[in-house]
Amino acid sequence: MLIKKICRECETEMTKKYTEDGVRIYCESCNDETDHDNVEMEAYCPDCGITLEFHGKCGQGFYCNKCSSLKSSKKVIWKKMSDQIRIPR
Ligand SMILES: [Zn+2]
Ligand SMILES: [Zn+2]
Repeated sequence: MLIKKICRECETEMTKKYTEDGVRIYCESCNDETDHDNVEMEAYCPDCGITLEFHGKCGQGFYCNKCSSLKSSKKVIWKKMSDQIRIPR
């Protein structure tokens, strides 16, 4: 499970931008410093759909126990965890 910063306007992941004033959290899609939420995301296997284990030691890799192979972080499917645990008011 990873925490990602997600833009409230377009739901794209925010990127860090280094300026003279320091680090800014920036949305490339909106081309602006938009409001954003910290969202708990879980990685799922693109081939079989189970949750993946993050292996920081082997580089930026996600390991699938069912396929017994590493998945590229570009191919994994990200799903929000907050949708499942949100409590209605
Ligand atoms: Zn945006
Ligand atoms: Zn798999």
